[in-house]
Amino acid sequence: MTEPERKTDIGPPHYGQFLHPVIKANYGKWKYHEIIEPGVLMHVSETGDKLYSVRVGSGRLVSTDFVREACDLADKYSQGHFRFTSRHNMEFFLTDLSQLPALKADLAAKGWPIGGTGHSVTSIVHTQGWVHCHTPAIDASGIVKAVMDDLFEYFGKHDLPAQVRIALACCLNMCGAVHCSDIAICGVHRTPPKILHDKLRHLCEIPTTIASCPTGAIRPHPDKSLKSVIVNEERCMYCGNCYTMCPAMPCFDAEKGGVAILVGGKVSNSKTPPAFSRLAIPWIPNNPPRWPETVAAIRKILTKYAEGANKWERVGEWIERIGWERFFEVCDIPFTFQHIDDYKFQAYDTYRTSMHFKF
Ligand code: SF4
Ligand code: SF4
Repeated sequence: MTEPERKTDIGPPHYGQFLHPVIKANYGKWKYHEIIEPGVLMHVSETGDKLYSVRVGSGRLVSTDFVREACDLADKYSQGHFRFTSRHNMEFFLTDLSQLPALKADLAAKGWPIGGTGHSVTSIVHTQGWVHCHTPAIDASGIVKAVMDDLFEYFGKHDLPAQVRIALACCLNMCGAVHCSDIAICGVHRTPPKILHDKLRHLCEIPTTIASCPTGAIRPHPDKSLKSVIVNEERCMYCGNCYTMCPAMPCFDAEKGGVAILVGGKVSNSKTPPAFSRLAIPWIPNNPPRWPETVAAIRKILTKYAEGANKWERVGEWIERIGWERFFEVCDIPFTFQHIDDYKFQAYDTYRTSMHFKF
């Protein structure tokens, strides 16, 4: 007996029904793509079909009105279809390249920029920040807006030696791709959680709070009459996991929390294997609303990379070629004791990538 097909509203609808008709007709048949100008890709199918995707920068947080405007453009140019990339760009699809000037004019009238392809700085992928996560050490959207405003000149051109992927995660949980980005911005707590004993007994389960700590730093309060916990601060690594479990253990500190910058990671295995990012700057103050110190630090690293890298070299490949100690020198970044953990495991390959180098 065949089972009737089960109907369910669990999970998203199948993506196939949302594909542009040319993408659907050529699914699995695409031969290659090429960038015909910054922000515009031509995709060629083995059937002979061509589709042009036009990449447009957008924010990660957008309004309903903004989406409606994008839908109007999609109706006008893309047979009612557009998509958001994983980096929060929008892509419109053209089957007829002669429509490109009109689409560009409509985008320019809205102030929506075309770019983010090839050897550019594309939109910065980022996490929730103060908008809707509970453990951020820093904001996400605000810092990204300030950094991208400063680097905007690199979005619509292919002037850099290679693509530069920047990511932000607002705490060490790293929901963003900070561990594998050319330049990464990471929020760091630097203080143990504060324990609100009055609230803890009403809000939290003590066993699950204790179990949430990866370093075993939390234990029941020695005063049995106080249904609470204490933290061994020497063991705490300021991860904020306990706050996820127990809202009476907040860890945000406006003065001591801040921004760390990591560099040299990549996902691609082109030319060299994928690489993890490594610590460049351990702490920069969390300085809203425009984070000038963070913006300046990233511009400096990007400028030195643009000046010193060979064509096609990603940030990490440039650093590996010149040596990490030289990278710290050219970027005027002091090597401190906070860096040691990130550099001590590499001495098996070469001391030039270990903490044993000359600092
Ligand atoms: S990185 Fe941390 S604070 Fe940011 S969204 Fe992820 S868990 Fe929340
Ligand atoms: S912040 Fe992390 S390491 Fe520190 S007590 Fe909480 S769970 Fe443990």
